[in-house]
Amino acid sequence: MEIEKSLYDNLQEFFGFDAFKGDQEAIITNILNKKDTFVIMPTGGGKSICYQLPAMMSAGTAIVISPLIALMKNQVDQLRAFGGRDSIAHFLNSSLTKGEITRVKADVSSGQTKLLYVAPESLTKEENILFLQSIQVSFVAVDEAHCISEWGHDFRPEYRKIRTILNEIGDNIPIIALTATATPKVQSDIRKNLQMTDATLFKSSFNRSNLYYEVRPKKNIVKEIVKFIRNNAGKTGIIYCLSRKKVEEIAEVLNINGIKALPYHAGLDAKTRADTQDKFLMEDVQVIVATIAFGMGIDKPDVRYVIHHDIPKSMEGYYQETGRAGRDGGEGYCLSFYSKKDVDKLIKFMKDKPVSEREIGTQILKEVIDYSESSVCRRKQILHYFGEKFDETGCNSMCDNCRTTKTYFDAEGDLIKVLNFIKEEGDRFDDQHIINVFIGQNNQPVSAYKHDDHVLFGYGKDKGVNYWNSLIRQGELADFVKKDIDHYGLLVLTDEGRKYLSNPYNLKFILNKEMEAA
Ligand code: ADP
Repeated sequence: MEIEKSLYDNLQEFFGFDAFKGDQEAIITNILNKKDTFVIMPTGGGKSICYQLPAMMSAGTAIVISPLIALMKNQVDQLRAFGGRDSIAHFLNSSLTKGEITRVKADVSSGQTKLLYVAPESLTKEENILFLQSIQVSFVAVDEAHCISEWGHDFRPEYRKIRTILNEIGDNIPIIALTATATPKVQSDIRKNLQMTDATLFKSSFNRSNLYYEVRPKKNIVKEIVKFIRNNAGKTGIIYCLSRKKVEEIAEVLNINGIKALPYHAGLDAKTRADTQDKFLMEDVQVIVATIAFGMGIDKPDVRYVIHHDIPKSMEGYYQETGRAGRDGGEGYCLSFYSKKDVDKLIKFMKDKPVSEREIGTQILKEVIDYSESSVCRRKQILHYFGEKFDETGCNSMCDNCRTTKTYFDAEGDLIKVLNFIKEEGDRFDDQHIINVFIGQNNQPVSAYKHDDHVLFGYGKDKGVNYWNSLIRQGELADFVKKDIDHYGLLVLTDEGRKYLSNPYNLKFILNKEMEAA
């Protein structure tokens, strides 16, 4: 009761809010009780308060590890404004002078500083470790914790050192890790790497019910985009392209067509980029054509559409980028254009990368391909990717697939064959291998495992790759099989799948549109 009362008082006093959003209260209570805490919340969910508020209420200083100097600075400025004094929050990073560092350390040591933001690179410096050993640390917050994982979208090798350094700083310091990335693989990497396997998990839903998702074949792309923007006159939007060259080209074409558009990519100088951002926020420009360099930290609540001129490299990226539409809860149209040529291009880009990176990249891309080619509810697929079960009736026709009439097929017979194959072969193969067996495509792994002698080799040749791919994917969406977290790509039969095999029933799956045409 005591904690509860002071929680609300402090929320009101420091942040001026009357109520907590989502799981905030439970998260804050958990960290105040000195328990390791793992927060997975989509962008805009209100993660910052989850560590800022308990830091204000705890004895000592909370260390916040954050990857971007700009993000740190923003938060420190805000806290100082709320707290009414500068010493309440500081950051320690490479942008500070010697004099400033001395001041920061003095404020922290005297107990005035409640939050100390540290870049992972600064955390590893010997002098900082010594300093942090000398102070009272209330808890450690690891912001953007997905940077730990190569399977996330912003891998930062220094993040991998955090645990070792925390061990040097003190014993039993509670950790709160926060991220907006929710794939099961990234989650498991974070827990293992930060050695917080027992941490209490708080995971919010990633469903953005106001966003409309659509994938179109990439044909007459410029015409389609111009038409779309004209139909949405007076609204602002972002168009993402993969290359800087394409960004420039599309921005130019739009201007020729009378649409106020500006390019944005990392090749432009800092001033131009800052001006472009300002113009976008002030609505002096209708459309930003950008690479993925545009977006992080840009909080424009009324972006009405996000167009992907090229397919994104990962579902993660797709979710983050489309997530910039409709942050105010209003309309947000997410349109992406898909072509096999783009897929080939992305695969070609990966050719020169080290093998492990290429394998990870290919697996991640495969999810985007399946998503784009599938006729299943887009929202269901996105949420499944983030480990969330979603019944497509909840989509409310807010995706193209839910707006078109679907054709179904009887999946029972073939599904049993696939599930049995996975079971009998001991969960050792990925979908590509299984498809090769079913369509009778011989290659090195198929013959190495003597699957060219298997009774099912070539069993489903006439149905084609697309059919088997879609069958397996829908088996995944139904939770009969899942991708093995530690050997990403290998398909594992789940308890649900086992139950289905011992007690099968009639099941209808959705026929992919492309298959109908084929
Ligand atoms: P995230 O880090 O998860 O992207 P932020 O911490 O930046 O989210 O919060 C997103 C927005 O929600 C901010 O504008 C913040 O002020 C607001 N917010 C956070 N908590 C509350 C609350 N309890 N009540 C009202 N607004 C809140």
